[in-house]
Amino acid sequence: MGKRITIAIQRKGRLFENSKNLLIKSGINFTTNGEKLLARSSNMNVDILLVRDDDIPSLVSKGVADLGIVGQNVLAEQSTSNRKITAKAILDLGFSKCRLAFAKPSNSKLRSLKNKTIATSYPGLVKNYLRKNSINAEIIKINGSVELTPYIGIADCICDLISSGATLEANNLIEFKSLMNSEAVLISSSNIKNISDINIIELVKRFEGVINAAESKYVMLNADTNSIKQICKLLPGADSPTIIPLQQKNKVAIHALCSEPVFWETMEKLKQNGASSILVMPVEKILNYCLLYTSPSP
Ligand code: ATP
Ligand code: ZN
Repeated sequence: MGKRITIAIQRKGRLFENSKNLLIKSGINFTTNGEKLLARSSNMNVDILLVRDDDIPSLVSKGVADLGIVGQNVLAEQSTSNRKITAKAILDLGFSKCRLAFAKPSNSKLRSLKNKTIATSYPGLVKNYLRKNSINAEIIKINGSVELTPYIGIADCICDLISSGATLEANNLIEFKSLMNSEAVLISSSNIKNISDINIIELVKRFEGVINAAESKYVMLNADTNSIKQICKLLPGADSPTIIPLQQKNKVAIHALCSEPVFWETMEKLKQNGASSILVMPVEKILNYCLLYTSPSP
């Protein structure tokens, strides 16, 4: 039995559900009750640390956890101000997508950030942005309810996380510039190429398989033999479709694993090109589907 692998995830908040689901879909069984700080997997050599998201980059950088799941926004902010944060993002996880953006009250005349006061929980990233764009402005670090600051006279505008924009709208704020896009990422203390523990690599491959499967669809349809070429061209991200003869003459079934989303528009185009009985099915797991890296040689 190899050494136990420790994975740090957010205990409660926006990242929790998706992080937990990723682990469970990857075959790691565990239970949490919202209070526990450590959950031991019942079927794998894995321990799950349940912590605040802000603690995840440092736990991974220090090696307390081998892997962690955190927003790119948090990793990027902490990396700007703390040299000890050496953790690297090794896999984009596709959930908790949002952007860090500037917003101002909807009645504000503000046209540029020059000499303005900006309230934010991301002072490091905002500072870097201002420096890069040679803008002189004041930054006020606020930990919560940043969206209220323009109304209590603390700031002219804010720089905060936005996903749907509903919070901004509810507070009469409008976005005017985006600073960075963010999503949840898997982090490790070193680059993927330098990970030597084979068990960790196998686990990362499983995560990758679950992420890729989430976007992939298995498509099955029937078509005339003379439209095979056109139809295969329309299948998004399909590697090598399977063509199966049907009992009816000049008819085939085409089966393909599509690595990109299959929209209604795609299905309608397939139909226009002579496809019938088009089925699009979810894919649960994919192994060695699209590896981002190869394991280091022993
Ligand atoms: P904790 O108690 O763990 O410190 P938190 O309050 O800092 O939690 P959450 O609000 O749960 O954090 O957000 C966690 C992450 O979810 C953010 O860092 C960001 O990556 C992502 N996220 C996605 N959409 C949004 C959004 N609209 N507002 C805030 N965060 C978002
Ligand atoms: Zn936090």
